[in-house]
Amino acid sequence: MSYTALKTAACRRLRIPDDETSSVRIVRRSIDARRRDVRINLSLRVFAGDNPPELYRKTEFPYVEGKKEAVVVGFGPAGIFAALTLLEHGIRPVVLERGKNVHERLKDTARLSRDGILDPESNYAFGEGGAGAFSDGKLYTRSSKRGDVGRILALLVQHGAEESILWDSHPHIGSDRLPYIIEAMRRTIEEHGGSVLFGKKVTGLMRKGDETEGVVCQDGSEYRGPVILAAGHSAKDVYSFLLSSGCSLEAKSTAIGVRLEHPQALIDSIQYHAAGKRNPFLPPAAYSFVTQAGGRGVYSFCMCPGGVIVPAASEDGLQVVNGMSPSSRGGKMANSGMIAELRKEELEESDPLAMLRFVENVERRCFNPGFAAPAQRMDDFVKGHVSSSLPVSTYPRPLVSAAMDDLLPPFIASALREGFQAFGRMTGGRFLTHDALMIAPETRTSSPVRILRDQNMRQGRGLYPAGEGAGYAGGIVSAAIDGTEAALRLGGDYGCLC
Ligand SMILES: Cc1cc2nc3c(=O)[nH]c(=O)nc-3n(C[C@H](O)[C@H](O)[C@H](O)COP(=O)(O)OP(=O)(O)OC[C@H]3O[C@@H](n4cnc5c(N)ncnc54)[C@H](O)[C@@H]3O)c2cc1C
Repeated sequence: MSYTALKTAACRRLRIPDDETSSVRIVRRSIDARRRDVRINLSLRVFAGDNPPELYRKTEFPYVEGKKEAVVVGFGPAGIFAALTLLEHGIRPVVLERGKNVHERLKDTARLSRDGILDPESNYAFGEGGAGAFSDGKLYTRSSKRGDVGRILALLVQHGAEESILWDSHPHIGSDRLPYIIEAMRRTIEEHGGSVLFGKKVTGLMRKGDETEGVVCQDGSEYRGPVILAAGHSAKDVYSFLLSSGCSLEAKSTAIGVRLEHPQALIDSIQYHAAGKRNPFLPPAAYSFVTQAGGRGVYSFCMCPGGVIVPAASEDGLQVVNGMSPSSRGGKMANSGMIAELRKEELEESDPLAMLRFVENVERRCFNPGFAAPAQRMDDFVKGHVSSSLPVSTYPRPLVSAAMDDLLPPFIASALREGFQAFGRMTGGRFLTHDALMIAPETRTSSPVRILRDQNMRQGRGLYPAGEGAGYAGGIVSAAIDGTEAALRLGGDYGCLC
């Protein structure tokens, strides 16, 4: 619908003349596909007069060279938003990132996809932007109670994201656009006197009793100041040095399973209740399934319409998959994580790294040289057959036909089997199909470890664990909110909030 048509429709609904209205703005857009007549619902705000208010509040950043410094470990969503918040409040962020800048990183992930060669410091988990850089960039979160989602979205728009993320009910940026936005955020930090240093792998804390005074890097360099630790959930070495410095950690429940891939056209026809080509006014369809199987939650996670499956490991010898989609979501396939709950009480061991080791064992069992991935057709898995052939897939490395029952813990495999049958029933049998492919394993859904912190988000004076790796976030927006909050607490504690 054109802008003029929208304006006319809004004026007609409000019974006001068109020429008394200066502009019309979308404030919410959602798709209601529950019935056959799929609807796009719009909420509009209509303005009279010449100066409608700005779409969002632009954040102004002061110049901070020579000001109080704070160290930020990791430049994923939590670290980026922590650094921007410090900057906004007049504190000089010194960001230490073990990986490379996002454009160098692109070359390393391309080599991994093409040749199966992994750089353990530059991959889908490590480097500028963190796991968020090549992520799908879906920005919905259930954590709006925890912080200001609008501010996170506004900062993304300020750095180049499409304005539509401010009003879409399921905002999405796309893995092709995220690197440019992340780079623009880094430039803001650098241009205002902060620093972002690459190839700086933090290997230890400088502690005096309970107080953290700074960090030490692998190259021997030291950085002093209060520390926001936002290293993500793939940085297992960080958990080890925290434990050896006397920090308190605990094992955390998580969820594991597989990536499931269907033809996008099939998902469109299920979700939009129509055979044949999708209506061009509708975006590639997404889905969200959830059920209980034997008292265990089974659900879809991080669904990527028109997306691809990627090898997301950060260590050789371990297999991990994840999914992403470009801004157009124009690919022929749809994928999602299909996962079942894994509770820490179910483990035989209870030490802080018990869940991490459990998950790592699954990743090791699933590994094949060159990151060839174990795969099985969805219907074969449900019937208990190894697939004699595999359908086409977007996973860039070879596929190896395998029985998921041999690779996944038995209680996870049986919960997934039951869940798939339930999802099949919910869709008249269409979702549970011979054309759907399971690729294993999906294990990095949330952190298997929690770094404990008090009500002020600290562990002892000077250490602020934040984001997904600390166990307090599970996605781009929630990690960004957590990083923001950690920076605000730090500013409050050190009397730097201006
Ligand atoms: C392929 C893929 C797709 C995804 N899609 C989505 C999506 O669509 N929507 C969504 O909400 N979430 C998505 N996620 C998850 C999301 O990316 C993460 O939840 C989010 O990035 C977590 O942010 P974080 O800052 O806490 O940690 P990370 O993003 O993991 O960042 C941690 C950073 O710390 C650095 N680091 C680690 N150890 C050290 C060290 N010792 N020294 C210095 N630096 C260190 C790492 O290199 C990394 O850059 C996706 C993830 C992947 C892998």
